[in-house]
Amino acid sequence: MTAAILDGKALAETIRAEIAAQAAEFKQQTGVTPCLAAVLVGENPASQVYVRSKQKACEKAGIASQLHRPAHDISTAGLLELIERLNGDPAVHGILVQLPLPRGIEEARVLEAVSPLKDVDAFHPENVGRIVQGRPRFLPCTPHGVQQMLLRNHIEVAGRHVVVLGRSDIVGKPMAVMLMQRGGGGDATVTVCHSRTRDLPAVTRTADILIVAIGRANFVTAEMVKPGAVVIDVGINRTESGLVGDVDFAAVKEVAGHITPVPGGVGPLTVTMLLHNTLVAARLQTGQKGR
Ligand code: NDP
Repeated sequence: MTAAILDGKALAETIRAEIAAQAAEFKQQTGVTPCLAAVLVGENPASQVYVRSKQKACEKAGIASQLHRPAHDISTAGLLELIERLNGDPAVHGILVQLPLPRGIEEARVLEAVSPLKDVDAFHPENVGRIVQGRPRFLPCTPHGVQQMLLRNHIEVAGRHVVVLGRSDIVGKPMAVMLMQRGGGGDATVTVCHSRTRDLPAVTRTADILIVAIGRANFVTAEMVKPGAVVIDVGINRTESGLVGDVDFAAVKEVAGHITPVPGGVGPLTVTMLLHNTLVAARLQTGQKGR
């Protein structure tokens, strides 16, 4: 069997066109242009690429963007001041602090300083709490992208066993919570695995849907996948042979029913859901219905 490829690039284009139309309508109704402010500290090359691609995507969708690049040795207090200024700026609707922040900066304090109404990454504890309670203001971009990938490809989630490999605050943990919620895109039976999980292949082989976010190149092999399963690869690993995922794509595609490629799978959807959240933030701040 060769798996059907879940094309994230094509799906992202479709959703971005929808967002562009909604942004244009919003502008017409309110006279306001949704605006995302990105804060980038330091010279991490990958971070620079990510921020540039987010800005380009904003531009194409008719969303304004700002780039704030404070000095690489800015203190936590200095960064908090910048965030406070952006929180108070009515022209800015979404604030994105590109991670990782340089060592020495108190990341949690900075992320908590972002106004929950402008928190388009959904990292603020208030927004995380709302997600857990099933009444989200914003959904975190990568898990939301994965959920859209499943929904829009008509892959049934309700009642199925989803194994999430990885328990980070950015991907694995919110992914698991979103899939176990009641209703659309949820109602799954979810198992979360991590580096302390015993006999990992025995667990992953029970997955109807396997979502992998661990940051280990080609880690998931064909023997770890149930024949016909849906395999979603969130991983992005830079290797000598280029970008690869956490799943051994060539081998696993012979076993799985559906699989996402890397690149061109989940990645483009992450940026897309950031655009969606910026529009949600602009709606919230102009008194329109949010989601
Ligand atoms: P983290 O490093 O924060 O978390 C990795 C998780 O994987 C941890 O929970 C860790 O377990 C688990 N893990 C690591 N090694 C193993 C192992 N050998 N067996 C089982 N579990 C393991 O990573 P992120 O969640 O931030 O990112 C994961 C991957 O996704 C990365 O490649 C990243 O680049 C990519 N990514 C892609 C995005 C996209 O848009 N496509 C967006 C965000 C991330 P433990 O908790 O026990 O340490």
